[in-house]
Amino acid sequence: MNLTFYGGVNTIGGNKILLEDSDTRLFLDFGMNYSEYGKYFEEYMKPRVGNGITDLVEMGLLPHPKELPGFYRTDMLEIGNYPIHDKPAFDGILLSHAHFDHSAHISFADERIPVYSSEITIAMLKALLECGNLSFDTEVYAFKRRPAKRGEPRIERNWQKAKPGKKFKVGELEVKPFAVDHSVPGAMSFLIYTSEGTVFYSGDLRMHGTYGYLTKEMLKELEKEEVDLMLCEGTRIGEVENQSEELVKSHSHEIISKCNQLVIADYAFKDLTRFNTFYEIAKENNRKLAIQLKDAYLIRELKHLIELPSITDENILIYLDKRCSGTYCEKDYNKQWMKELYSLDNTIPGKEITKRQKEIIVRLSFWDLNELIDIKPAQGSQYIHSMCEPFNEEMAISEERLKNWLKHFSLPYNYVHCSGHANAIELKEIINAIKPKKLTPIHTEHPEKFKEIVGKGIKIEKIE
Ligand SMILES: [Zn+2]
Ligand SMILES: [Zn+2]
Repeated sequence: MNLTFYGGVNTIGGNKILLEDSDTRLFLDFGMNYSEYGKYFEEYMKPRVGNGITDLVEMGLLPHPKELPGFYRTDMLEIGNYPIHDKPAFDGILLSHAHFDHSAHISFADERIPVYSSEITIAMLKALLECGNLSFDTEVYAFKRRPAKRGEPRIERNWQKAKPGKKFKVGELEVKPFAVDHSVPGAMSFLIYTSEGTVFYSGDLRMHGTYGYLTKEMLKELEKEEVDLMLCEGTRIGEVENQSEELVKSHSHEIISKCNQLVIADYAFKDLTRFNTFYEIAKENNRKLAIQLKDAYLIRELKHLIELPSITDENILIYLDKRCSGTYCEKDYNKQWMKELYSLDNTIPGKEITKRQKEIIVRLSFWDLNELIDIKPAQGSQYIHSMCEPFNEEMAISEERLKNWLKHFSLPYNYVHCSGHANAIELKEIINAIKPKKLTPIHTEHPEKFKEIVGKGIKIEKIE
């Protein structure tokens, strides 16, 4: 059995871990490394579609096709003049969750390679393809062959639903998936039974969210298993601060219950746990939560799989952002996925919110801030930032802009958030419950800190 780390080591995200065991070859995630990507690319400086994967390969953001014959899409290989295969040479990709640092570059994999993930992750990636303004390097669920021809349909990947606790086979290997708690629903960890023992792949996980019990249930299940090698995420290995979804709820509740004007909140669009938290707070405070069109679409598409309110619930409003004509007319919302949402009775444009500030919490992302010009938040309104702090230069610049907008509209900035990742205390509990023989830190900038928390008898093997 051999592991090759093409990404996800000594950095947060971009996991691309190849596991080979005799004739079976599978990848554990195939994500995008945002910090490396950010070294060369930004908003208007992107890899060129017309050059396929070549720009990303050249800048070291994707493994060279020479290293992975039989892995990439044949149209991408053709564009780059790389050798083309008849059949893929890989048995599968285990996808832990829908975040792009784990999933994005599956876009470039040969569509015949099966991708195993939870039903929720698959449904989420499908919904994102409809409403998410994706570029060619994030078309995970389905993609258009390049060069794109007019009217040619999208090609869907070979998706395989992994059910928590139900073993399945990838090539010659057995895999057991587990549902875990993270800041996106549908996250999974995997246990792989190889010829040289078991490998546990954590993906991203935590225990302090609303679904923390899922991670705890997995630890119970794993008591019955021998884990030889644990690939363990360590995003927050250096932190001990106590955070939880419960605390997010109580802090936000405190701010909102004292506010007698509009509340503006921003949280990650894929974080449906956070959506539920704000929905609950809205209800408790006799307010309605106004969500963006794409929020409503995602919720509607996932409602049959997760506990979520109906988008026509009496405490939900659907915000209409000002588009082309500026008149909120039907033809401004004529994309297929928007049409049905537009015709619902609970839609609300910004100027209507102006008149009903005391009754509403509105979710506005950074990209929606110019809607404040129509909303005109009254004196005494509050802004709650409920997502991770900026971790790179580009985000820091955006944060600066955000603060300028808030200052302009006299909105106080409140920071209320809990991370999608386990801190050092939780990681210690997780690792010492699993008791692997060996542990390899992944998805962390501080692999050296693992030795401070793991119990005796667990050997740490860092990848340089
Ligand atoms: Zn991640
Ligand atoms: Zn994640």
